[in-house]
Amino acid sequence: MLKTSKKVAKYSLILAVTALVLIGTPANSKQDLKAIPNATSISALTGDKTLKSNAGSEILVYSFTPESKAPAFRFLIQGGMHGNESQASQFVLWIAKRYARGESLLNQLAADDIAIDFVPYLNPDGVSENNRYNARGVNLNRNFDVLWGVTRENPGQKSFSEPETKAIKKLFEKQKYTAAVDVHGYINWIVAPSRPEALQAAGHKISKKQIGTYNAWSQAIRKNMPMLNGYQYKTGAELGDGGAFEDWAFWKHNTLSYCLELETWFRFVPTKKRQFNDLHQPAYGKVDKYAQYETFVYRMFQEAIAIKKAGNDPSQMAGN
Ligand SMILES: [Zn+2]
Repeated sequence: MLKTSKKVAKYSLILAVTALVLIGTPANSKQDLKAIPNATSISALTGDKTLKSNAGSEILVYSFTPESKAPAFRFLIQGGMHGNESQASQFVLWIAKRYARGESLLNQLAADDIAIDFVPYLNPDGVSENNRYNARGVNLNRNFDVLWGVTRENPGQKSFSEPETKAIKKLFEKQKYTAAVDVHGYINWIVAPSRPEALQAAGHKISKKQIGTYNAWSQAIRKNMPMLNGYQYKTGAELGDGGAFEDWAFWKHNTLSYCLELETWFRFVPTKKRQFNDLHQPAYGKVDKYAQYETFVYRMFQEAIAIKKAGNDPSQMAGN
């Protein structure tokens, strides 16, 4: 009897917690999305109307480009590739709003003549279903064509089999990003591009110059990581996750890229210590946390500009 009521209590708690987490992270309302100017879509930006999600949704982009001329540096901040990691989309929208109002640290990069694209919902079908995968059950972050097929999840029938990854590919070809950050919401990791050795072992040809840039970028990430307390440096190859965005962006497009996992506070609270009040604190001081992540993103863009100015210009390297 006692055991049963304990069990019931336990499952009630799990249900209550799940409900609160869901209520605590609502989808952004349409009004909220309209608060940010410069809204467009990947299909409109690239002029290719086919570049929508499986279910036909547009993939939203907030595109900030200086009016006068082509920018010297263009950056991408994207989230929502895994549709259930709602915190990532919220963070991208938060930073886009601040940027639009001139309140973000990223606004300080204006002296360097930059442009930024924000893509909050890369996987709109997954977002609407609160689903990690796209509408065809594919993990989009395994569908890119570097180390493709190395995964325990569904990577798609072949690389770029999915409309969402095709859309990102076209966007890259058009925008030629200097640096890109793919925001997720799961654990305390930075996932950097996989090491050159992992690429070479899989038969990818890479140049000496790319390896030089890799070393500079990898060092820059490690140098800035201590500001994110307790964060670990990972790579897709080491995790057994081939076909990831940052590997493709770095090794195929020479875009200085990484994956920023937003630490999900709930994961680190032992079940016994969770209290009702904890659940009402949005991501234990979400705004402070977001500001910290924004600082990291800002510093990494600064590092990317420095690497490019030092002559390791990724966009000038021979393609592979
Ligand atoms: Zn993810």
